[in-house]
Amino acid sequence: MELESFSLFAGAGTQTQGESSTISSGAYLAISPDAGQLIAMFLKIVNAKKTIEIGVFTGYSLLLTALTIPDDGKITAIDVDRTKYEIGLPIIQKTGVGHKINFIESQALPVLDELIQDPKNEGSFDFAFVDADKVNYWKYHERMMKLVKVGGIIIYDNTLWRGYVALPEEDVPEKQRASRQSVIEFNNSISADHRVEISHASVGDGVLICRRIC
Ligand code: SAH
Ligand code: CA
Repeated sequence: MELESFSLFAGAGTQTQGESSTISSGAYLAISPDAGQLIAMFLKIVNAKKTIEIGVFTGYSLLLTALTIPDDGKITAIDVDRTKYEIGLPIIQKTGVGHKINFIESQALPVLDELIQDPKNEGSFDFAFVDADKVNYWKYHERMMKLVKVGGIIIYDNTLWRGYVALPEEDVPEKQRASRQSVIEFNNSISADHRVEISHASVGDGVLICRRIC
């Protein structure tokens, strides 16, 4: 079944992030379909079987991943808020790919730290999609350097932050400045990280494709 046949997000509004937690105003939180195609392409290129997703929301990128990986593939999906995941869950179940998903309702960092405690998980993930709180992206990256295998792909979302990363701070709405700053610092840090190769694609809200090389 094609992902495009679904609309989890009818009624997408134009409000900015944080204005409301209603499903219509939060709908834009999901990746854009073109970013989704790119993610699916990378999942296929690396033959991803075991993946991790940080930041699920209603499950658009999760469903895309579940539809793309093989039938015995597994996704560890983490989000602090299960209620949004439950909105999309009936659609995920309809597609018959729900068995690939292990959803964990939690702050992401403690779950990642717990995974790292188990030596079996070290370098065991083929692919990761990071799309949660921007302020923690570098902390997630440090954990991914342990969990994702050498040669594996990590994709970070929203790394252009509506283009604000390229504007002087005074031209950025005040409530966007903290996240913009986190994203800029993350982009700078990862650019200087010799453990990875990166490609920053201006697709959707910016996706930073990162390949672990050592
Ligand atoms: N990846 C989804 C969209 C995720 S939106 C898609 O493209 O379809 C960002 C999500 O990150 C929200 O659902 C929010 O609840 C979650 N989130 C924010 N901070 C988090 C944290 N510290 N730990 C886990 N999830 C978090
Ligand atoms: Ca996102």
